[in-house]
Amino acid sequence: MPGIWASTYRRRPKHVAPAKLMAKREVRIVAKTPGLVCAHHHLYSTLARGMPPPPKTPTNFQEILEQIWWRLDAALDLEMIRWSAMLGALEALESGTTAIVDHHESPNAIEGSLDVIAAACAEVGVRVLCAYGITDRNGAEGAKRGLEENERFIKAGGNGLVGIHAAFTCSDESLRSAAALADELGVGAHIHVAEGVGDIEAPDRLDGLTSDAWLLAHCVHLPTNHSLRGTILHNPMSNLNNEVGYANPARFTSPVALGTDGIGGNVVESFRLAYVMQRSVDVTCGPDTAWSWLETGWDLMPEARTDEVTWSYDPMDPWHIAFTPGIRPLEVKVDGEIVYTDGAPTRVDAAEVRARAAEQAERLHARL
Ligand SMILES: [Zn+2]
Repeated sequence: MPGIWASTYRRRPKHVAPAKLMAKREVRIVAKTPGLVCAHHHLYSTLARGMPPPPKTPTNFQEILEQIWWRLDAALDLEMIRWSAMLGALEALESGTTAIVDHHESPNAIEGSLDVIAAACAEVGVRVLCAYGITDRNGAEGAKRGLEENERFIKAGGNGLVGIHAAFTCSDESLRSAAALADELGVGAHIHVAEGVGDIEAPDRLDGLTSDAWLLAHCVHLPTNHSLRGTILHNPMSNLNNEVGYANPARFTSPVALGTDGIGGNVVESFRLAYVMQRSVDVTCGPDTAWSWLETGWDLMPEARTDEVTWSYDPMDPWHIAFTPGIRPLEVKVDGEIVYTDGAPTRVDAAEVRARAAEQAERLHARL
Protein backbone atom coordinates (compact mmCIF):
# COMPACT_ATOMS: atom_id res chain seq x y z
CA MET A 1 0.00 0.00 0.00
CA PRO A 2 1.41 3.42 -0.87
CA GLY A 3 2.92 5.03 2.20
CA ILE A 4 1.02 8.28 2.14
CA TRP A 5 -2.27 6.56 2.86
CA ALA A 6 -0.96 4.88 5.96
CA SER A 7 -0.22 8.25 7.47
CA THR A 8 -3.58 9.76 6.63
CA TYR A 9 -6.09 7.26 7.92
CA ARG A 10 -6.20 5.10 10.98
CA ARG A 11 -7.28 1.51 10.89
CA ARG A 12 -9.57 0.30 13.64
CA PRO A 13 -7.50 -1.52 16.26
CA LYS A 14 -8.27 -5.23 15.85
CA HIS A 15 -9.04 -5.76 19.52
CA VAL A 16 -11.72 -3.03 19.70
CA ALA A 17 -15.29 -3.99 18.79
CA PRO A 18 -17.13 -1.56 16.45
CA ALA A 19 -19.88 -0.72 18.99
CA LYS A 20 -17.38 0.19 21.63
CA LEU A 21 -15.46 2.18 19.08
CA MET A 22 -18.48 4.29 18.16
CA ALA A 23 -18.92 5.30 21.77
CA LYS A 24 -15.45 6.80 21.81
CA ARG A 25 -15.48 9.72 19.43
CA GLU A 26 -11.76 10.30 19.67
CA VAL A 27 -11.06 7.03 17.85
CA ARG A 28 -13.77 7.42 15.18
CA ILE A 29 -12.41 6.14 11.87
CA VAL A 30 -12.18 8.57 9.01
CA ALA A 31 -10.42 8.02 5.74
CA LYS A 32 -8.48 11.05 4.65
CA THR A 33 -6.24 11.59 1.67
CA PRO A 34 -4.55 14.58 0.12
CA GLY A 35 -6.52 16.36 -2.62
CA LEU A 36 -6.50 14.35 -5.83
CA VAL A 37 -5.02 15.65 -9.11
CA CYS A 38 -6.65 15.33 -12.53
CA ALA A 39 -3.56 15.31 -14.73
CA HIS A 40 -5.30 15.93 -18.06
CA HIS A 41 -8.55 17.85 -18.35
CA HIS A 42 -10.29 20.11 -20.86
CA LEU A 43 -12.53 22.33 -18.77
CA TYR A 44 -13.89 23.93 -21.94
CA SER A 45 -15.56 20.66 -22.90
CA THR A 46 -17.86 20.65 -19.84
CA LEU A 47 -20.61 22.33 -21.86
CA ALA A 48 -20.40 19.79 -24.69
CA ARG A 49 -22.94 17.48 -23.07
CA GLY A 50 -26.22 17.54 -24.91
CA MET A 51 -24.76 19.34 -27.91
CA PRO A 52 -26.57 18.74 -31.21
CA PRO A 53 -25.26 15.78 -33.20
CA PRO A 54 -22.80 16.60 -36.00
CA PRO A 55 -24.14 16.77 -39.58
CA LYS A 56 -22.55 13.37 -40.32
CA THR A 57 -21.76 10.56 -37.89
CA PRO A 58 -17.97 10.51 -37.35
CA THR A 59 -16.45 7.16 -38.30
CA ASN A 60 -12.94 7.63 -36.90
CA PHE A 61 -10.96 9.77 -34.46
CA GLN A 62 -9.98 12.38 -37.07
CA GLU A 63 -13.65 12.88 -37.94
CA ILE A 64 -14.56 13.09 -34.24
CA LEU A 65 -12.06 15.94 -33.92
CA GLU A 66 -13.25 17.70 -37.07
CA GLN A 67 -16.99 17.32 -36.58
CA ILE A 68 -17.28 17.64 -32.81
CA TRP A 69 -14.36 19.17 -30.94
CA TRP A 70 -13.01 21.60 -33.54
CA ARG A 71 -16.50 22.94 -34.23
CA LEU A 72 -17.16 23.25 -30.50
CA ASP A 73 -13.92 24.99 -29.56
CA ALA A 74 -14.33 27.47 -32.46
CA ALA A 75 -17.74 28.50 -31.09
CA LEU A 76 -16.52 29.32 -27.56
CA ASP A 77 -16.45 32.86 -26.20
CA LEU A 78 -15.07 34.00 -22.85
CA GLU A 79 -18.41 33.85 -21.04
CA MET A 80 -18.93 30.25 -22.12
CA ILE A 81 -15.37 29.43 -21.10
CA ARG A 82 -15.97 30.97 -17.68
CA TRP A 83 -19.05 28.88 -16.90
CA SER A 84 -17.68 25.69 -18.37
CA ALA A 85 -14.66 26.11 -16.08
CA MET A 86 -16.88 26.92 -13.08
CA LEU A 87 -18.94 23.77 -13.64
CA GLY A 88 -15.89 21.63 -14.36
CA ALA A 89 -14.16 22.88 -11.20
CA LEU A 90 -17.30 22.25 -9.14
CA GLU A 91 -17.57 18.69 -10.44
CA ALA A 92 -13.89 18.11 -9.69
CA LEU A 93 -14.40 19.25 -6.10
CA GLU A 94 -17.44 17.00 -5.77
CA SER A 95 -15.11 14.11 -6.68
CA GLY A 96 -12.31 15.01 -4.25
CA THR A 97 -10.14 16.47 -7.00
CA THR A 98 -8.54 19.69 -5.77
CA ALA A 99 -6.08 20.25 -8.61
CA ILE A 100 -6.61 20.23 -12.37
CA VAL A 101 -4.02 20.16 -15.15
CA ASP A 102 -6.04 21.87 -17.87
CA HIS A 103 -5.48 22.01 -21.61
CA HIS A 104 -7.50 24.74 -23.28
CA GLU A 105 -8.40 25.72 -26.85
CA SER A 106 -10.76 28.43 -28.07
CA PRO A 107 -9.45 29.75 -31.41
CA ASN A 108 -11.95 32.63 -31.56
CA ALA A 109 -11.42 33.69 -27.93
CA ILE A 110 -7.71 33.21 -27.27
CA GLU A 111 -6.59 36.36 -25.50
CA GLY A 112 -7.37 36.29 -21.80
CA SER A 113 -8.86 32.79 -21.91
CA LEU A 114 -6.35 31.36 -19.43
CA ASP A 115 -7.11 34.16 -16.94
CA VAL A 116 -10.81 33.35 -17.19
CA ILE A 117 -10.17 29.67 -16.44
CA ALA A 118 -7.78 30.43 -13.57
CA ALA A 119 -10.25 32.90 -12.04
CA ALA A 120 -13.16 30.46 -12.32
CA CYS A 121 -11.23 27.68 -10.61
CA ALA A 122 -10.07 30.05 -7.87
CA GLU A 123 -13.66 31.14 -7.30
CA VAL A 124 -14.74 27.54 -6.72
CA GLY A 125 -11.60 26.79 -4.70
CA VAL A 126 -9.81 24.37 -7.02
CA ARG A 127 -6.18 24.62 -8.11
CA VAL A 128 -5.44 24.72 -11.83
CA LEU A 129 -2.36 24.46 -14.03
CA CYS A 130 -3.33 26.13 -17.31
CA ALA A 131 -2.10 25.79 -20.89
CA TYR A 132 -3.37 27.11 -24.20
CA GLY A 133 -3.01 24.39 -26.84
CA ILE A 134 -1.49 26.04 -29.91
CA THR A 135 -2.28 24.73 -33.37
CA ASP A 136 -1.70 25.71 -36.99
CA ARG A 137 -5.00 24.31 -38.15
CA ASN A 138 -6.44 27.85 -38.12
CA GLY A 139 -3.35 29.30 -39.79
CA ALA A 140 0.09 30.25 -38.51
CA GLU A 141 -1.33 33.45 -37.02
CA GLY A 142 -3.58 31.37 -34.76
CA ALA A 143 -0.59 29.40 -33.46
CA LYS A 144 1.29 32.62 -32.80
CA ARG A 145 -1.60 34.12 -30.85
CA GLY A 146 -1.88 30.93 -28.82
CA LEU A 147 1.79 31.03 -27.99
CA GLU A 148 1.44 34.66 -26.92
CA GLU A 149 -1.45 33.74 -24.61
CA ASN A 150 0.71 31.12 -22.88
CA GLU A 151 3.58 33.59 -22.57
CA ARG A 152 1.42 36.45 -21.34
CA PHE A 153 -0.34 34.30 -18.73
CA ILE A 154 2.84 32.71 -17.34
CA LYS A 155 4.85 35.94 -17.33
CA ALA A 156 2.02 37.63 -15.40
CA GLY A 157 2.50 35.03 -12.66
CA GLY A 158 -0.12 32.50 -13.77
CA ASN A 159 0.40 28.84 -12.95
CA GLY A 160 0.91 27.47 -16.43
CA LEU A 161 2.63 25.28 -18.97
CA VAL A 162 3.06 25.98 -22.67
CA GLY A 163 0.21 24.19 -24.45
CA ILE A 164 0.47 22.49 -27.83
CA HIS A 165 -2.53 20.75 -29.37
CA ALA A 166 -0.60 17.96 -31.07
CA ALA A 167 2.29 17.56 -33.48
CA PHE A 168 0.00 16.60 -36.35
CA THR A 169 -1.79 19.96 -36.27
CA CYS A 170 1.38 22.03 -35.82
CA SER A 171 4.17 23.05 -38.15
CA ASP A 172 7.74 22.20 -37.19
CA GLU A 173 8.29 25.89 -36.62
CA SER A 174 5.40 26.08 -34.14
CA LEU A 175 6.66 23.01 -32.28
CA ARG A 176 10.14 24.50 -32.03
CA SER A 177 8.77 27.90 -30.92
CA ALA A 178 6.64 26.30 -28.21
CA ALA A 179 9.56 24.22 -26.92
CA ALA A 180 11.80 27.29 -26.92
CA LEU A 181 9.19 29.32 -25.02
CA ALA A 182 8.80 26.54 -22.45
CA ASP A 183 12.57 26.47 -21.94
CA GLU A 184 12.73 30.26 -21.68
CA LEU A 185 9.95 30.33 -19.08
CA GLY A 186 11.37 27.37 -17.16
CA VAL A 187 8.20 25.28 -17.51
CA GLY A 188 7.16 22.18 -19.43
CA ALA A 189 4.83 21.84 -22.38
CA HIS A 190 1.46 20.05 -22.31
CA ILE A 191 0.72 18.24 -25.57
CA HIS A 192 -1.35 15.37 -27.00
CA VAL A 193 0.97 12.65 -28.33
CA ALA A 194 0.04 9.77 -30.64
CA GLU A 195 -3.55 9.69 -29.40
CA GLY A 196 -4.69 8.34 -32.77
CA VAL A 197 -2.89 6.73 -35.69
CA GLY A 198 -2.90 10.11 -37.46
CA ASP A 199 -0.21 11.31 -35.04
CA ILE A 200 2.25 8.42 -35.21
CA GLU A 201 4.96 10.76 -36.48
CA ALA A 202 4.85 12.69 -33.18
CA PRO A 203 7.84 10.96 -31.54
CA ASP A 204 10.04 11.78 -34.54
CA ARG A 205 8.81 15.33 -34.85
CA LEU A 206 9.20 16.02 -31.11
CA ASP A 207 12.58 14.30 -30.86
CA GLY A 208 15.02 16.58 -29.05
CA LEU A 209 12.37 19.11 -28.04
CA THR A 210 10.96 17.53 -24.86
CA SER A 211 12.15 17.79 -21.26
CA ASP A 212 11.25 15.97 -18.05
CA ALA A 213 8.72 18.76 -17.31
CA TRP A 214 6.69 17.96 -20.44
CA LEU A 215 3.27 16.32 -20.17
CA LEU A 216 2.45 13.86 -22.96
CA ALA A 217 -1.27 13.10 -23.12
CA HIS A 218 -2.48 9.66 -24.30
CA CYS A 219 0.56 8.08 -26.07
CA VAL A 220 -1.71 5.26 -27.28
CA HIS A 221 0.40 4.75 -30.41
CA LEU A 222 3.74 5.79 -28.93
CA PRO A 223 6.35 3.03 -29.34
CA THR A 224 7.38 1.44 -26.05
CA ASN A 225 11.02 2.32 -26.64
CA HIS A 226 10.52 5.98 -27.42
CA SER A 227 12.92 8.86 -26.82
CA LEU A 228 10.47 11.45 -25.51
CA ARG A 229 11.01 12.90 -22.04
CA GLY A 230 8.17 13.81 -19.70
CA THR A 231 5.16 12.31 -17.94
CA ILE A 232 2.60 10.27 -19.88
CA LEU A 233 -1.01 11.22 -19.12
CA HIS A 234 -3.34 8.22 -19.34
CA ASN A 235 -7.05 8.80 -20.06
CA PRO A 236 -8.67 5.38 -20.39
CA MET A 237 -12.31 6.49 -20.67
CA SER A 238 -11.59 8.96 -23.43
CA ASN A 239 -9.47 6.44 -25.35
CA LEU A 240 -12.28 3.90 -25.23
CA ASN A 241 -14.84 6.53 -26.20
CA ASN A 242 -12.80 7.52 -29.26
CA GLU A 243 -11.92 3.96 -30.31
CA VAL A 244 -8.24 4.90 -30.52
CA GLY A 245 -6.98 1.82 -28.68
CA TYR A 246 -5.47 1.03 -25.29
CA ALA A 247 -2.27 2.87 -24.36
CA ASN A 248 -1.19 0.09 -21.95
CA PRO A 249 0.94 2.60 -20.02
CA ALA A 250 2.48 -0.11 -17.82
CA ARG A 251 4.78 -0.85 -20.79
CA PHE A 252 6.54 2.53 -20.47
CA THR A 253 9.44 3.43 -18.19
CA SER A 254 8.25 7.06 -18.26
CA PRO A 255 6.22 8.34 -15.28
CA VAL A 256 2.46 7.93 -15.85
CA ALA A 257 -0.36 10.08 -14.40
CA LEU A 258 -4.15 9.80 -14.69
CA GLY A 259 -6.52 12.24 -16.34
CA THR A 260 -10.03 12.38 -17.73
CA ASP A 261 -9.45 14.22 -21.03
CA GLY A 262 -12.42 16.42 -20.23
CA ILE A 263 -14.90 13.70 -19.25
CA GLY A 264 -15.48 15.17 -15.79
CA GLY A 265 -12.93 15.55 -13.01
CA ASN A 266 -13.33 12.26 -11.16
CA VAL A 267 -9.93 10.57 -11.02
CA VAL A 268 -11.10 7.86 -8.63
CA GLU A 269 -13.26 6.77 -11.57
CA SER A 270 -10.23 7.05 -13.88
CA PHE A 271 -8.23 4.87 -11.49
CA ARG A 272 -10.93 2.20 -11.38
CA LEU A 273 -11.13 2.06 -15.17
CA ALA A 274 -7.33 2.22 -15.56
CA TYR A 275 -7.04 -0.79 -13.28
CA VAL A 276 -9.54 -2.99 -15.13
CA MET A 277 -8.13 -1.93 -18.50
CA GLN A 278 -4.68 -3.03 -17.35
CA ARG A 279 -6.25 -6.20 -16.00
CA SER A 280 -7.81 -6.84 -19.43
CA VAL A 281 -4.32 -7.37 -20.88
CA ASP A 282 -2.58 -8.70 -17.73
CA VAL A 283 -4.72 -10.71 -15.36
CA THR A 284 -1.83 -10.97 -12.88
CA CYS A 285 -1.73 -7.24 -12.15
CA GLY A 286 -3.11 -5.65 -8.99
CA PRO A 287 -4.50 -2.13 -8.57
CA ASP A 288 -1.29 -0.78 -7.09
CA THR A 289 0.13 0.15 -10.50
CA ALA A 290 -2.94 2.15 -11.53
CA TRP A 291 -2.97 3.73 -8.08
CA SER A 292 0.66 4.76 -8.48
CA TRP A 293 -0.40 6.57 -11.67
CA LEU A 294 -2.99 8.51 -9.68
CA GLU A 295 -0.30 9.38 -7.14
CA THR A 296 1.99 10.72 -9.90
CA GLY A 297 -0.45 13.64 -10.06
CA TRP A 298 1.18 14.97 -6.90
CA ASP A 299 4.50 15.28 -8.70
CA LEU A 300 2.79 17.51 -11.28
CA MET A 301 0.89 19.65 -8.75
CA PRO A 302 2.65 19.10 -5.39
CA GLU A 303 0.53 21.76 -3.66
CA ALA A 304 -2.43 19.34 -3.75
CA ARG A 305 -0.60 17.20 -1.18
CA THR A 306 -1.40 19.85 1.42
CA ASP A 307 -5.14 19.62 0.64
CA GLU A 308 -7.26 17.17 2.61
CA VAL A 309 -10.23 15.07 1.53
CA THR A 310 -12.37 13.16 4.03
CA TRP A 311 -14.06 10.27 2.23
CA SER A 312 -17.34 8.41 2.59
CA TYR A 313 -15.49 5.10 2.55
CA ASP A 314 -12.82 3.59 4.76
CA PRO A 315 -10.16 2.48 4.08
CA MET A 316 -9.07 4.39 1.01
CA ASP A 317 -6.88 1.52 -0.05
CA PRO A 318 -6.40 0.67 -3.76
CA TRP A 319 -7.77 -2.88 -3.35
CA HIS A 320 -10.93 -1.52 -1.73
CA ILE A 321 -11.42 1.45 -4.06
CA ALA A 322 -11.01 -0.69 -7.17
CA PHE A 323 -14.15 -2.65 -6.25
CA THR A 324 -16.23 -0.04 -4.45
CA PRO A 325 -18.46 2.19 -6.57
CA GLY A 326 -19.80 5.54 -5.43
CA ILE A 327 -17.02 6.66 -3.09
CA ARG A 328 -17.43 10.40 -2.56
CA PRO A 329 -15.87 13.14 -0.45
CA LEU A 330 -17.60 14.29 2.73
CA GLU A 331 -15.34 17.28 3.23
CA VAL A 332 -12.62 18.91 1.17
CA LYS A 333 -10.02 21.36 2.46
CA VAL A 334 -7.85 23.33 0.06
CA ASP A 335 -4.98 25.30 1.52
CA GLY A 336 -6.53 24.87 4.98
CA GLU A 337 -9.97 26.20 3.98
CA ILE A 338 -13.08 24.01 3.88
CA VAL A 339 -14.31 24.41 0.29
CA TYR A 340 -16.76 21.48 0.26
CA THR A 341 -18.81 20.00 3.09
CA ASP A 342 -22.24 18.39 3.65
CA GLY A 343 -22.62 17.68 -0.06
CA ALA A 344 -22.10 21.28 -1.18
CA PRO A 345 -19.33 23.71 -2.08
CA THR A 346 -18.82 26.52 0.43
CA ARG A 347 -17.62 29.27 -1.90
CA VAL A 348 -20.21 29.08 -4.64
CA ASP A 349 -23.86 28.07 -4.94
CA ALA A 350 -23.83 24.77 -6.84
CA ALA A 351 -27.38 25.26 -8.16
CA GLU A 352 -26.50 28.68 -9.52
CA VAL A 353 -23.31 27.38 -11.19
CA ARG A 354 -25.32 24.63 -12.85
CA ALA A 355 -28.05 27.04 -13.97
CA ARG A 356 -25.60 29.58 -15.42
CA ALA A 357 -23.61 26.81 -17.11
CA ALA A 358 -26.83 25.49 -18.65
CA GLU A 359 -27.59 28.96 -20.06
CA GLN A 360 -24.13 29.14 -21.63
CA ALA A 361 -24.46 25.60 -22.97
CA GLU A 362 -27.67 26.64 -24.70
CA ARG A 363 -25.88 29.63 -26.30
CA LEU A 364 -23.00 27.37 -27.35
CA HIS A 365 -25.19 24.65 -28.82
CA ALA A 366 -27.17 27.23 -30.81
CA ARG A 367 -23.93 28.20 -32.60
CA LEU A 368 -23.14 24.67 -33.73
ZN1 LIG B 1 -6.93 15.92 -24.28
